[in-house]
Amino acid sequence: MHEDIEKLRVLQERDRSIARAEQEIAGLEHERVEVNSRSADAESGHEAAQLKAKELEARKNALEVEVQAEQEKIRTYARQQMDTKDNEQYKALGRQQETCKETISDLETSEIEVLEEIDSHAEVSQAAKAELDEANAAKVKALGEIDERETNLKAKLEEFTSQRAESAGKVEAGALKQYDRLRARKGTNIVVGITHGACGGCHMKLPEAEVIVIKTGSKINYCPNCGRIVYYTRDMVMESD
Ligand SMILES: [Zn+2]
Repeated sequence: MHEDIEKLRVLQERDRSIARAEQEIAGLEHERVEVNSRSADAESGHEAAQLKAKELEARKNALEVEVQAEQEKIRTYARQQMDTKDNEQYKALGRQQETCKETISDLETSEIEVLEEIDSHAEVSQAAKAELDEANAAKVKALGEIDERETNLKAKLEEFTSQRAESAGKVEAGALKQYDRLRARKGTNIVVGITHGACGGCHMKLPEAEVIVIKTGSKINYCPNCGRIVYYTRDMVMESD
């Protein structure tokens, strides 16, 4: 094998490590979104429970206000009864007070129902709060772990990058230029072996004469179809073998 091929393969390995680390770092952002959306569900559940509690409280207060208004009416009718000399009006005012008392009784029944609902909803609210606390604690832990992984990955990436620079420095300038050009266009599978007489990158059959040249390893060879750097080693399967 041509000695630059060896160096290029090392360089390609470095580039693959860099690409993997970069991909993993990019994936962390996705994980953060997932973690945040999980706790957002608990948050909206808790908010809904709080809203319902407020509504129940408002209903209870409204009923109390209505009761007070009816009591006020009773006091007014009682005062008017004291002032009247008319017997019929006196009786009518008495009936109005009775009607108010019936209304109050109905309002109080409704209030008891609301109070019962407030009681049972308190358990729902408590459960929602517990779930939110748990989700938030889990979020803090998960985000902490993601941050830690990111720190480690970035440290590795830095290491890979300096190793890459070292490896690149060993490759002959022309070959490196060609490699970098291919790297930008085709990713990290550009120094490829030939298998069954075909390019390991694009899988196109190579001309017989080309394979013979590649086999000698006297220079760097390129796939005539895709331009990848192709090489041959003894353990490769050849069409002619
Ligand atoms: Zn090819």
